[in-house]
Amino acid sequence: MARYTGPVCRMCRVEQKKLMLKGNRCKSDKCPINKKRAAPGKDPKGRAGKRSDYGLQLREKQKLKRIYGMQEKQFSLFFERALRMPGITGENLFVLLERRLDNVVYRMRFASSRSQARQLVLHGHILVNGEKVSIPSYLVKAESEISIVDGSKSMAIIKDSLKEFSKSGVMSWLSLDPDTMKGKFLAAPKRGDITDLGDIKEQMIVELYSK
Ligand code: SF4
Repeated sequence: MARYTGPVCRMCRVEQKKLMLKGNRCKSDKCPINKKRAAPGKDPKGRAGKRSDYGLQLREKQKLKRIYGMQEKQFSLFFERALRMPGITGENLFVLLERRLDNVVYRMRFASSRSQARQLVLHGHILVNGEKVSIPSYLVKAESEISIVDGSKSMAIIKDSLKEFSKSGVMSWLSLDPDTMKGKFLAAPKRGDITDLGDIKEQMIVELYSK
């Protein structure tokens, strides 16, 4: 599947929001958003134009899509699946995105960004319930155990990422034993549990796809 290969920070600058796409750099002073750099192509002193409803909805979709590192086709398939699920479509979409294996690996602190987690999955370093799974979009089920292949446990990027566990732990719907590098996806989170994505307005994404 085609991947975006352009400058990653540009995506944050377009959205004027920290999408946390580059791991530790995102928390450092090097982040261009921290330096308040203007959106690409915009005059920093120019007046912001008023966006149409469509423009606002599009931006919300792009933000969420970019946070989870997805291409349009795959994102729209996730949306269709969310639409078919009982309950609120926007919330279902978040639940599905959070269940992606690359996201769970990132949330478990085995990687410092979702793109790094995706590479770990693709290269066969991740086990789900003891079986190797190399599909980043694999949907993790409740009570699944996620762990690192024995031969990969000494990888520097995994060890470095796990240092974050001692500072911040893991999200409430996960558990992790950093010594054995095994964790559990306890249950799919509720929208209200996903606090670090802040102000994403999923209802606008639903409205966009309903046009
Ligand atoms: Fe770049 Fe991360 Fe800052 Fe986004 S949040 S601009 S990816 S350093």
